[in-house]
Amino acid sequence: MSGVIAASLIRAKRDGRRLDAAQWQALAQGIGSGEWSDGQIGALAMAIAWRGLDADECRDFTFALRDSGRCLRWSDLPGPVLDKHSTGGVGDCVSLALAPLLAACGGFVPMISGRGLGHTGGTLDKLESLPGYDVNPDPARLAKVVREVGCAIVGQSADLVPADRRLYAVRDISGTVDVPELIVASILSKKLAGGAQALLLDIKTGSGAQTPDVAAAEALARRMQAVAEGSGLQLAVMFSDMGQVLGAAAGNALEVRGVLDLLAGHPHCPRLRALVLAQAARLLQLGGIAQDEADALCRAERALASGAAAERFARMVAALGGPADVFAHALPQAPVQRAVAAQAAGFVAAIDVRALGEAVVDLGGGRRRPDAAIDPTVGLEEVVGRGQWLDAGASLAIVHARSEADAERAAAQLRAAFTLAEVPPAQAPLWRWLQG
Ligand code: URA
Repeated sequence: MSGVIAASLIRAKRDGRRLDAAQWQALAQGIGSGEWSDGQIGALAMAIAWRGLDADECRDFTFALRDSGRCLRWSDLPGPVLDKHSTGGVGDCVSLALAPLLAACGGFVPMISGRGLGHTGGTLDKLESLPGYDVNPDPARLAKVVREVGCAIVGQSADLVPADRRLYAVRDISGTVDVPELIVASILSKKLAGGAQALLLDIKTGSGAQTPDVAAAEALARRMQAVAEGSGLQLAVMFSDMGQVLGAAAGNALEVRGVLDLLAGHPHCPRLRALVLAQAARLLQLGGIAQDEADALCRAERALASGAAAERFARMVAALGGPADVFAHALPQAPVQRAVAAQAAGFVAAIDVRALGEAVVDLGGGRRRPDAAIDPTVGLEEVVGRGQWLDAGASLAIVHARSEADAERAAAQLRAAFTLAEVPPAQAPLWRWLQG
């Protein structure tokens, strides 16, 4: 595509004109192949931010991004291809348990995951706490693991949705990360290219969410639904509470430890277990494995309690180069571990979860720059939940840090993040489903 054609497409969007499916395809090919400059991509992103896309354009744009690279095909698998996406949370390690649980129930889960973003953690960073785990297997290895184990949690390869890879990088530097149409096309193009037949979208709400505004979260969900409907993808959307840390831990190796304990039948946090089961049950229904909700929950509970999900997780880790027996493997630990005491008694009335996520990043468990290294050992453990009663001096959380000074700084951040009160807060539901 010549620069003149690219400029005319950008101008059309700038002036609020519609592009047709062929024009979106040409545009995505131009972006993915490297023909378009970053300047042109940024101008297009801003024109979309300014003018918006109608439902048909959003769908055509999504399909064009999907078609800019290789699409994974799983038509010969003996079960449905299931996947989930979360908008990002603190202590949200659901994917690590969900993928093997679904595999143990007969689903296939090639889960293309991401790294930590801002104050929220990333599934790939968590898995890299396991020495040797390869988050970028070649296509043949990925296909083999999905076929033989039933699940593989990996990163996005260079040839999968290359147009989104470039667009995403430019959005980051052009003030267009939060544009709903771009978010929808970015997420769904990757899920469609990954070959998903059923997808669960977990939109986080509350103080630790990327989109704390409930109305904006609802609007995003409706847009996702509209595009998914036109693509044949079965989609369920849940809104889940990020007004408290999801599990009992936040930090890479600490969250992996929590998942290993959950899979081994010793969950530390009922919220995490409940959310994993709810998501699994919905996906088993969407994928046609379970007949109804009761059947789906029963299958998921059984796969967890019998150790079948644990066995799938161990096989996935070993097949992707991690420890041969992950349940016997000692995860790395930070040198300093310190409980942070509440300064007064009270019910935990509110938690600034974003501040807790920021504290983990400050400890070295997340990134301030895309290429920064992270320390898998640091973070928070045994974090108290909303509504819990604390005596004065009781622990708010245990900080895992590289030094006493880091632990001291995190302790101050933690104390400021918890609001204690004499009366318990109204309990919010842990999740609700998008209706309709
Ligand atoms: N995740 C993505 O892949 N893209 C977005 O735009 C937001 C979250």
